[in-house]
Amino acid sequence: MKDSGEFLRKASLARAALAALERHDLAPEPQNYALFYAYASGSEPLLKEAIDGILREEGGLSRADLSMLCRAFLRDQALGLTWHELPFEAAGPASTPPDATASAAAALAAAHAAATRIGNRTATIDLVRRLVAATRSIEERKRLIEEELARSRAELDALQASLDNVRHETLNDQLTTLASRRHFDATFERAIAEARESGAPLSLLFTDIDHFKSFNDRYGHQTGDHVLRLVALAVKQNVREQDTACRYGGEEFAVILPGTSAAEAVVVGEHIRTAVMSREFRRRASGERLRPVTLSIGIASLRPGDTASSLIERADSCLYKAKSFGRNLVVAEDESPLRERA
Ligand code: GH3
Ligand code: MG
Ligand code: MG
Repeated sequence: MKDSGEFLRKASLARAALAALERHDLAPEPQNYALFYAYASGSEPLLKEAIDGILREEGGLSRADLSMLCRAFLRDQALGLTWHELPFEAAGPASTPPDATASAAAALAAAHAAATRIGNRTATIDLVRRLVAATRSIEERKRLIEEELARSRAELDALQASLDNVRHETLNDQLTTLASRRHFDATFERAIAEARESGAPLSLLFTDIDHFKSFNDRYGHQTGDHVLRLVALAVKQNVREQDTACRYGGEEFAVILPGTSAAEAVVVGEHIRTAVMSREFRRRASGERLRPVTLSIGIASLRPGDTASSLIERADSCLYKAKSFGRNLVVAEDESPLRERA
């Protein structure tokens, strides 16, 4: 420590401060020492200017000069005083009081009062010192407020992002990015109410991947997930903007088709079925060609007196029929299988 640059620098400042006290015939009291230590360090250019000015004009420093300089330039700790014991409130810049802006305003008011004594040189230095302190205090306060604002803004942004995430996760399925079951429930109820009101048709389409369990068993779950995403994409690509495609269960998707009759929904179902069936699936890592993937599809359309669950039940039983008729089929209610297996 003793040989460190910092120690040597401070020791040299201390020697310079004591030498100055001796040179100017001043008592080696802590406050005088603190003044000349600050003078030697050059940390307060205004203090240096004030002391040099007085020495130039007066040839020495009186007790009144020292007292004024201490009050104007020393930190309250060095003075051994508290803020309230200082002759003027907020006369020192050292510690930021709780309400720095109010203190700065008080300091400016005090400075204004001091300006009436401007003829007095020491009062002028005191005034300048107070103005500098007040300005610094305002700047410090402004900086703190800006920091606080930036922190709050960052927190708000983070909160907003996690809220968006939660909303997205609630309404969207992560694997397929289709709407979630929760979103389906709300949208379906709304679609039924709107269809009732307008008298427009409404159809519900259910899809289920055929023999997907054995697909997973053969290629692994990860490849199964990859195929699930591609099937979801095929569903999405074959429905319109006003339709709602959701992941209803594990490998089951549901599509709400507003303004769509059963016959029109069957056309949509066929597009989805053939798009999946004719797609060539490959394992992502190796490019290995996978066995074809097919879908079974069930369709039901809104009837008077239907509830959401009665309509779902009928679409589900059509899907069951499609499975039992041999899979890779579209079945609408009250009809035999509409398409033969391709
Ligand atoms: P089918 O519908 O033709 O009667 O046969 P299936 O084998 O598809 O029917 P089942 O309902 O018995 O099995 C569905 C399988 O779907 C079970 C499960 O392994 C798979 N599955 C469900 N969700 C996911 C998923 O998120 N990822 C993957 N990779 N597989 C899933
Ligand atoms: Mg299933
Ligand atoms: Mg299945």
